[in-house]
Amino acid sequence: MSYFVDEKGYYGAFGGAWIPEMMQANVSELQERYLEIMATEEFRREFDLLMKDYVGRPSPLYEAPRLSAYYGSRIFLKREDLNHTGSHKLNNTIGQVLLAQKLGKTRIIAETGAGQHGLATATVCALKGLPCVVYMGALDVKRQEPNVRKMKMLGAEVIPVTSGNQTLKDATNEAMRDWINHPEDTHYIIGSVVGPHPYPDMVARFQSVISEEMKRQLQEQTGSGFPTRVMACVGGGSNAAGAFYHYLDHPEVELIGVEAAGKGADTPETAATLAVGSPGVLHAAHTILMQNNDGQITEPYSISAGLDYPGIGPLHAHLFKTGRASYLHATDQETLQAALLLTRLEGIIPALESAHALAALPKIPLRTGDITVICLSGRGDKDMQTYLDAYGY
Ligand SMILES: *Cc1c(COP(=O)(O)O)cnc(C)c1O
Repeated sequence: MSYFVDEKGYYGAFGGAWIPEMMQANVSELQERYLEIMATEEFRREFDLLMKDYVGRPSPLYEAPRLSAYYGSRIFLKREDLNHTGSHKLNNTIGQVLLAQKLGKTRIIAETGAGQHGLATATVCALKGLPCVVYMGALDVKRQEPNVRKMKMLGAEVIPVTSGNQTLKDATNEAMRDWINHPEDTHYIIGSVVGPHPYPDMVARFQSVISEEMKRQLQEQTGSGFPTRVMACVGGGSNAAGAFYHYLDHPEVELIGVEAAGKGADTPETAATLAVGSPGVLHAAHTILMQNNDGQITEPYSISAGLDYPGIGPLHAHLFKTGRASYLHATDQETLQAALLLTRLEGIIPALESAHALAALPKIPLRTGDITVICLSGRGDKDMQTYLDAYGY
């Protein structure tokens, strides 16, 4: 059983490149060249240097003593929240902007929902002096104003998309249209392990730095690089893919993804794709997604803007189907409680996305001798308004 992508771009039954004929040239170029470029010494050197001096890697692996005491079991946090711009997203955008330059591209586009990926893309474009266009649903432009301001300050052009529901799906369609019209000079940076092959594999490889460091750090701190389990929140699934990557072929390490249940996985207001979804094509990949009986995508809901995606990357669909990883979900309420608990026990205010992974801890039988690593994907600064609404601070 392989958990890695095959030559055709599939993870078992999932993945592929379900693209319109007009996008074939853009995608083929990437498919043919990404592995070769990423394997060059020059690419590795530039990527590693930026990870170290720009992002601030390696991110610490922190054994959380008071959280561990609370659960009666050892818990480690992989501190992606301490990266430049506050999450794991920059690992991927740096990788892709370097790749785009090697392909001779001079213009970058992206789509964004909550604005976090748009911000990470605008950041690397400023770093490299490249023009950047970010497509964003007009509704999201209104909802995520601070991120829109930051993207503009970084020099990006933010284009509000007024079609459809004016959210992420519509922004994605617009970005694809742009790419089709500019096949020569433009690279489209996708922000998670979603989209047509080779994006899911490419993004997972860039994010795999998370588990590469984790293994080394665990070895130093515990005497073994292999924990009992690794846990991460899952929107599209990129921080989870990065945290799982170097453990995929080690079945003794349990892998647990945590989706956003919103108001409850049994209510219409949810984003727990694997709990309620079925196979179909989304964002040019065959995967599992939330849809109604007519095959229409249903609008996802979560308190956390980074997790309300109606699908999941094909790697996760495969890990779910084969049972290699298990997927739990946490509600808005459980997540808010878990965020406050971490804040009070460890002095770390987590992103709402990351707090979903913490909220799954009470749902797992934790034994005294276990070692659990949680990928703390981001910091909570951007979520202070939500915490204020919930708790009064
Ligand atoms: C975007 C985001 C996520 C969700 O994206 P994945 O691709 O599932 O990792 C999770 N945490 C934070 C902090 C984010 O910004």
